[in-house]
Amino acid sequence: MNIRLQGTGGADGIPAFYSDSRVSVHARQHRGKNIRTRSAALVDECLKIDLGPDTWHQMVRDGLDARDWTALIFTHSDADHFAPDELMYALYPFNDYEFAGFMLYANMTICRRILEKYPEWPFEMFTTKSFQSFEHGGYEVTPIRAHHKEDEDAHNLVIQDGKSTLLYGTDTGVWDPPTWEYLEGIKADCLILECSEAFASTNYDGHLDIQEFDMVLERLRKHGTVHSGTQIWTTHHSHQGEGTHDELCAHLEPRGVNVGYDGVVIEF
Ligand SMILES: [Zn+2]
Repeated sequence: MNIRLQGTGGADGIPAFYSDSRVSVHARQHRGKNIRTRSAALVDECLKIDLGPDTWHQMVRDGLDARDWTALIFTHSDADHFAPDELMYALYPFNDYEFAGFMLYANMTICRRILEKYPEWPFEMFTTKSFQSFEHGGYEVTPIRAHHKEDEDAHNLVIQDGKSTLLYGTDTGVWDPPTWEYLEGIKADCLILECSEAFASTNYDGHLDIQEFDMVLERLRKHGTVHSGTQIWTTHHSHQGEGTHDELCAHLEPRGVNVGYDGVVIEF
């Protein structure tokens, strides 16, 4: 399996849209891996995870074709992950297709919003629920409950293809007991974990700062979910986290963690 991190930024990206924060200013000056579009990913070029407002740019930047998607899997409805307007271009009259080339997998909140917006449109939709696996094209996908939103079944994802296992968590917070219990049975070949708040912790508990990231990782290692063969990468970095790409690397690389960046393809 491989996963491409199409975007590794928080909700307002880096440099942040309307900000002169230190990390934003540094990113404007130094560009490269400091530039982070809104978080999204693509597995084996066919399983699209989240459809944020930067999707068009991310596909063009990396020379990819959205017609290769067979599934579009949503994690939750926050605007950096769910930009429903971008769905309309999948169908006539923007092209000749009467049906989208991909199946939609989304929680109840997102399914409702899509049906409200496109009541007549022929999207094939499957409602996802945490801890209920589904099969798609040879992959087994298990949404697991994130500690991110009280009013919505926000997901992180376990994706397995029979050979490899991916654990993808962009908006996690520190998981609640049912998620930890589920993960005890999982051995991940690749872990993608958010570190949104990095060096600047806030009271909001729906995202991880660096201490929480270390704590979650330690516990995953203790359970064997993360082992010596697991590749570990970060994502979903906020400009408010007070970490430039190099500063994050200096802290995380000695812990065996790779700092994610836009466009990176991870094979496992
Ligand atoms: Zn987010």
